[in-house]
Amino acid sequence: MAKNSLFLLPGDGIGPEIMAEVETIIAFLNGKGLTDFSLDRGLVGGSAYDAHGAAISEADMAKALAADAVLFGAVGGPKWDSVPYDCRPEAGLLRLRKDLGLFANLRPAICYPALADASSLKREVVEGLDILIVRELTGGVYFGEPKEIVTLENGEKRAVDTQVYTTHEIERIARVAFDLAKARNGRVSSAEKRNVMKSGVLWNQVVTKIGKEEYADVKLDHILADNCAMQLVRWPKQFDVILTDNLFGDVLSDIGAMLTGSLGMLPSASLGAPDTATGKRKALYEPVHGSAPDIAGTGAANPIAMIASFGMALRYSFGLIDLAGKLDEAIARVLGKGLRTRDIAQKGEATVDTRAMGAAILGEFKALLG
Ligand code: NAD
Repeated sequence: MAKNSLFLLPGDGIGPEIMAEVETIIAFLNGKGLTDFSLDRGLVGGSAYDAHGAAISEADMAKALAADAVLFGAVGGPKWDSVPYDCRPEAGLLRLRKDLGLFANLRPAICYPALADASSLKREVVEGLDILIVRELTGGVYFGEPKEIVTLENGEKRAVDTQVYTTHEIERIARVAFDLAKARNGRVSSAEKRNVMKSGVLWNQVVTKIGKEEYADVKLDHILADNCAMQLVRWPKQFDVILTDNLFGDVLSDIGAMLTGSLGMLPSASLGAPDTATGKRKALYEPVHGSAPDIAGTGAANPIAMIASFGMALRYSFGLIDLAGKLDEAIARVLGKGLRTRDIAQKGEATVDTRAMGAAILGEFKALLG
């Protein structure tokens, strides 16, 4: 089996604690001969600043660029609140996204039946939910120029952000969404605001063309982004893959996150363009949550978002679909048996710590693998 390289960047706060649970799972998989991951570890965020005076060192950036996939924990904490702006912990993550060209952000919103009551929506609305939001990550209004605040002749100020997309940017994110839908339930809902935005008109045209010419087997519908927000809260199970731009994706994926209950449960993947020679995409996998400095070192961190992020790496970077499915199933079983870290426990329920949750998931995973 060819060696697959994983570069681990645990980061700050609870990052190293939750990454340790993934490392245990990787050691098991390698030990069983089911995978052949070579691991390397680096520093990012505040821990990198303390060691190198930068949010990520050039040596670690080079390793991230060379790896088949990067697993990222979380960065930040009060200790680094007053470091120079360019060295703030988040700068490490932004640099990784930029240099790896990670233009596609994938956020699944999965509601485990055992946790349906943790959602603010009714059980029947969210139970069994499994949708995927594909957000364009490197274009649109967050990056478009001009982006400025100018003072007008009359002394008033004027702020400008520019929503801008090119055909190429829309095509490549659309292909990611269509490819993913093919491996799921074969449906893409493309969300934009073509009724009031020219970028929405182009988005709609380009997605329609790609769908018709390249993905006739995927059912495509178009939805206005504001209606999409409403429908996500009204009946989210109507969706399979939601394809959207950077700004709307930011908002819609946070709505998707809250459908499922807790921050500690949410994985994500960010993918780049396929390499022309190998076809492999640069990729970074990370939990949606931050470094949770309030609970760091207490053993209260929920490792599920980190473990599920590794599951996404198995699926999307290494094509190990069966292993990924079994890891997801192991998480569902552990939750089904009533194990809870503090963040997902109902009042009065017993809780387990990070290590115990990780060990229980590994135990179920082993059982599923036979
Ligand atoms: P946070 O996500 O770290 O924490 C929010 C709340 O959720 C906290 O009460 C925390 O204890 C809880 N929580 C988060 N993850 C959890 C988990 N796995 N298990 C149990 N509970 C969990 O957000 P915040 O408090 O706004 O930010 C803390 C630090 O993290 C800041 O420095 C912020 O800049 C940084 N941050 C980093 C990232 C990232 O690395 N991608 C993302 C968001 C915030």
